[in-house]
Amino acid sequence: MSASITGEGWGLLLPTAYFQRLHHWQSGFPPRSRVLVNAHGRRFMDEDASYAVSSGIISAQDGPVWMVFDDRARRDLPPGYAHWNADHVLSEADAGRTLRAGTLEELAGKMNVSADTLQATVDRWNAQLPTGEDPEFLRHETLSAKGAAEPPAKIATGPFFAARTLPAELVCTHAGLEIDSSAAVLDVRGDRVPGLFAAGEAGAGVLGFRYVGGGNAVANAVTMGRIAGRSAA
Ligand SMILES: Cc1cc2nc3c(=O)[nH]c(=O)nc-3n(C[C@H](O)[C@H](O)[C@H](O)COP(=O)(O)OP(=O)(O)OC[C@H]3O[C@@H](n4cnc5c(N)ncnc54)[C@H](O)[C@@H]3O)c2cc1C
Repeated sequence: MSASITGEGWGLLLPTAYFQRLHHWQSGFPPRSRVLVNAHGRRFMDEDASYAVSSGIISAQDGPVWMVFDDRARRDLPPGYAHWNADHVLSEADAGRTLRAGTLEELAGKMNVSADTLQATVDRWNAQLPTGEDPEFLRHETLSAKGAAEPPAKIATGPFFAARTLPAELVCTHAGLEIDSSAAVLDVRGDRVPGLFAAGEAGAGVLGFRYVGGGNAVANAVTMGRIAGRSAA
């Protein structure tokens, strides 16, 4: 009898600018002064929301998601990272892959979103978070929890940039051989396959569709690994 495979499409992908090709500790981190906007030109989330939920929110948008930032934010990127650094962003813009424009109106045209809406989105953000709070998405609370000493700067210094952002950096899949609470592998009828156990990334059905918080995958691996060992013994 064949073992049951479950969890296709489950797991954790991190929000990723299209030009990130490495783990984020090597690729680097986007500017703090940025907004994520959807195909309607609107913000739709706390850009610093937990990685456990942010990709799900991005996936739920209909159409492309763009990270919008200005030249000051680009120039302020710390050196030393492979992709999120001032020169690399410039070279992506020179190549036409990151959108660049002298005004937000022109940028909106390249993004194919309403210029009025994008301008209103950035104006509203500039009037709120850089000088106080983000009442729509409470990003100030996230930044404060992360220990940020200062709020992000306004998005106000052209040229302006837009980089496509999508859930793409793979952390873990929750797919694999379906197991029960004893870590026994199940067959397609739901019966145990005699003598076969699985855990961690190999065993599936434990973590579900979404990653719900830091440490889940390692906790799953060590917990179900121990149970699998005991069951096998
Ligand atoms: C970049 C990144 C960041 C992560 N951060 C976190 C985090 O912060 N918190 C968290 O909980 N989880 C995190 N995870 C997920 C977590 O690391 C994994 O879910 C977990 O390590 C899986 O453990 P595992 O023992 O099932 O598999 P693995 O750790 O992949 O171990 C499988 C082992 O089997 C070996 N192997 C493969 N084939 C063979 C073979 N034929 N013969 C012998 N050996 C073989 C491999 O070399 C490997 O050592 C992260 C994952 C990544 C990629």
